[in-house]
Amino acid sequence: MFKKILVANRGEIALRVLRACREIGVRSVMVHSEADRDAIYVKLAHESVCIGPASSAKSYLNIPAIIAAAEVTGAEAIHPGYGFLSENADFAEQVERSGFVFIGPKAETIRMMGDKVSAKKAMIAAGVPCVPGSEGALPDDEDEIIRIGREVGYPLIVKASGGGGGRGMRVVEKEEDLLTAVKTTQTEAAAAFGNPMVYMERFLQKPRHIEIQVLADEHGNAIYLGERDCSMQRRHQKIIEEAPAPFITAQQRKKIGEACVAACKRIGYRGAGTFEFLYENGEFFFIEMNTRVQVEHPVTELISGVDIVLEQLRIASGMPLSIQQKDVHLRGHAIECRINAEDPYNFMPSPGLIDYYHSPGGPGIRLDTHLYQGYRIPPYYDSLVAKLCAHGDNREEAAARMRVALREFMISGIKTNIPLHRELLSDPTFLKGGVSIHYLQEWLSKREPQESA
Ligand code: ADP
Repeated sequence: MFKKILVANRGEIALRVLRACREIGVRSVMVHSEADRDAIYVKLAHESVCIGPASSAKSYLNIPAIIAAAEVTGAEAIHPGYGFLSENADFAEQVERSGFVFIGPKAETIRMMGDKVSAKKAMIAAGVPCVPGSEGALPDDEDEIIRIGREVGYPLIVKASGGGGGRGMRVVEKEEDLLTAVKTTQTEAAAAFGNPMVYMERFLQKPRHIEIQVLADEHGNAIYLGERDCSMQRRHQKIIEEAPAPFITAQQRKKIGEACVAACKRIGYRGAGTFEFLYENGEFFFIEMNTRVQVEHPVTELISGVDIVLEQLRIASGMPLSIQQKDVHLRGHAIECRINAEDPYNFMPSPGLIDYYHSPGGPGIRLDTHLYQGYRIPPYYDSLVAKLCAHGDNREEAAARMRVALREFMISGIKTNIPLHRELLSDPTFLKGGVSIHYLQEWLSKREPQESA
């Protein structure tokens, strides 16, 4: 195991990685921007290095500064967290070239999965079910595009191969709109992602978002830790996640989990990863792979008892996975509410000073956050400030515990979306389970208009 690693991230995930390091006696180096000097995880780390001003481009995305920090502190490996540089193949490559271990997959794997056309090709070859669509990128020939469109059927979705974060996609309802949609998406994709390649998929009408968590080591072992349902989304941003996914049977879980494990083995995957699927009418359709730890990993940890971040550290240091598939037993149900520093009605970010803070607790509650009373949330970064999880023997118990915790959770001085979560955890349709990815958006549009708190 490493003696010292550098954490190239901030906020709750920086604290999460730090906790894993402390638990097994690994020293941690925290890099931070000038705006994050007072963060609790910076104080808790063994060492810290300021790598630049508040702007992410000059700090958390500043590759030379991060690698220099690893050099001067003698860290052996770099944990990228999620977001920022975590899925940047060039960063992974430069880290390894500079003689450090990148805690994640090989750069070539990140590159292959970061390009949606090549990712889909790899998945089809590995037997993972994908959304029916064009075979690879669309050609230039217009007649051929029309022909492929008929084959896929309407409505369809034109997607940029280099797209990400919900951008670079266009739904096409009828054939006469197809060519314009393809051209516009190509132009946008070239400008936004430096890659004009687009492809086509059948547009699924009311899918759920269900994803499979995998772990794979360098010794040929790969396992899946069941699935998560992340259908509760606003503008493609997940708000509530849970595990397991309601109404997914053990048989379905095994089948799709084994397909993902086979794909990991085939592509030589290393580390923690997530296969994201749309799920409709009993069928799974692969949309993309995330080659990093995910925000919502705690719900899987709660039901599996596996520490995903510790496994990441083990894998990167060359050790085998600490568990085999036969040791994976999923227990109960877990729900995560993403607590954002934002207005719960109009969703405007709400950074600033926390003047009162009280955290929830009790049976089955887990809270991942770097907040404390007197902390000032900087305005420069993502608004996610805490992840509140509840675990119970079943979904009802997890939801009940979450309601208690949401009632106890008090953060004042700034606005948070805790009031939104309180409403959602009492919504009969959500409580029934199995809503589609459009549900939250529809629910919000029908929500009683409220004065902003
Ligand atoms: P990104 O990398 O930008 O997140 P994804 O491929 O993961 O792109 O798609 C993002 C979202 O777009 C999905 O969660 C889903 O809501 C919608 N979407 C993508 N592909 C389809 C499809 N074939 N049918 C219906 N919705 C889709």
